[in-house]
Amino acid sequence: MQRQQSIIEESLKAVMENEDFLPDLKYQSREQAYKSLVALLSTPNHVHKSYLRVPMEDGQIVRIPAFRIQHSDTVGPYKGGVRFHESVHEDEVANLAKLMTLKNALHELPFGGGKGGVSINPKDYSVKELNLICKKYVQYFNDILGPDKDIPAPDVGTGEREMDWMMGEFKALHPGEPYRNSFTGKSIVNGGSLGRREATGKGVYFTFRYMMHDFLNNNRDWLEGTDNVFAKTALNHADKELKMAVQGFGNLGSVAALESGKCDYLNNKVVAVSDANVMLYNREGLDIEALVEFTQQNDGDLPAEEQQLEEHEIHAEIRDRDELLTMDVDVLFLAALEDQIHEGNMKDIQAEIIVEGANGPITEEADKHLADQGVLIIPDILANAGGVIVSFYEWVQGREARFMNEDEVFERLFEKMKHTMDTILPQFFGDPFPLRQNCYIHSVMKLSNIMYRQGRLY
Ligand code: NAD
Repeated sequence: MQRQQSIIEESLKAVMENEDFLPDLKYQSREQAYKSLVALLSTPNHVHKSYLRVPMEDGQIVRIPAFRIQHSDTVGPYKGGVRFHESVHEDEVANLAKLMTLKNALHELPFGGGKGGVSINPKDYSVKELNLICKKYVQYFNDILGPDKDIPAPDVGTGEREMDWMMGEFKALHPGEPYRNSFTGKSIVNGGSLGRREATGKGVYFTFRYMMHDFLNNNRDWLEGTDNVFAKTALNHADKELKMAVQGFGNLGSVAALESGKCDYLNNKVVAVSDANVMLYNREGLDIEALVEFTQQNDGDLPAEEQQLEEHEIHAEIRDRDELLTMDVDVLFLAALEDQIHEGNMKDIQAEIIVEGANGPITEEADKHLADQGVLIIPDILANAGGVIVSFYEWVQGREARFMNEDEVFERLFEKMKHTMDTILPQFFGDPFPLRQNCYIHSVMKLSNIMYRQGRLY
């Protein structure tokens, strides 16, 4: 998150130097507009904090810190997930809300940025208690939530069950009013979108495939002629077998691994995957479908014992979980947690292409070090937007009461991500900034133009 903060600051400076930044303004008013922009983007519009008063099943009453932070509504209603995690605190939620503003602007979604959180470990609570926490969350923030005000979605520790509960409570508090679009990431029976569960993993893989196949092949002459270090990294990996490792085998990582394994456009081989317990390795390539099937039957866990591998005829070596990050592979997909590549292991990273599925999996020092080495990082803001894009489709489908089939959802998802990549990649391969900074500059330019036209930069 620290890295995110300083890159936003660097991007803001780069925006001021960019000749497309409010070109109609004369020097002094341009400077003034820039100061207003920095002030607007550095601080959230609203910070809502409360202590949910929740009676536990044993009769005890607890007060749980809960947040909804609304960063910007420049482009539309606030939009962002609700995280249930014991580490949730105000600064983290505020930073994630800011990231949502930039992510939604980058992908041209008609939403602003917001984020919510409750400081609990959901595993410490019964289903009945979690249901009550969800209801209380909606009751406490009732006035600020709504289909055209602020639309939460799932995040770490929450899923469709919690969104269904929250929408149910919103409905109860607003009789006779529209309620379906008050939350996204709901179950299909409650108005959720087909494809929402796989959207982020599919989108993460799509960004990689689109860059390494479609964009690279369509622009090969131009890329071969530039001295851009990241273009060289991409070209060095073109037309060869790509060894891949995937950290995290949950919702996102397992889908990204499946997509890698069955891609018709690139010659991929997923040689390693890991979860919180174990890493599995096979230099000839792992059977990802068999591993997905195993996790579905085993509470999400990968096989961690020889006997389990034998029983399921899965050919793999069991290795230490954290070895995965420093393995001799071409591509690393990070789909687990924040801060996984850091000062302690950054010099041992061998992959030259890294795709961020998780938010902020690389620390500030490591990000800078890897960029200096020419490692091509497809950042979270670009790669993991599939979830919010399909949330947007869910919101639209709820309004129109017309539901798309799964193929239509994925077609539109890839179309949207392609549009963003086609906007960003020529800029990225043409200048010296890493891709993350390019994305931030692009979002900030977009927001500044909209804010200026709304008369807010004075
Ligand atoms: P998940 O809970 O389904 O899966 C997380 C996986 O990471 C699990 O397999 C877990 O065992 C593994 N893991 C945990 N600690 C690990 C470690 N130290 N090393 C290796 N693996 C470890 O979560 P998810 O939905 O797949 O999300 C993964 C990450 O992506 C999260 O950080 C989340 O915030 C981010 N993200 C998810 C979405 C989405 O739509 N799912 C969208 C944007 C960002």
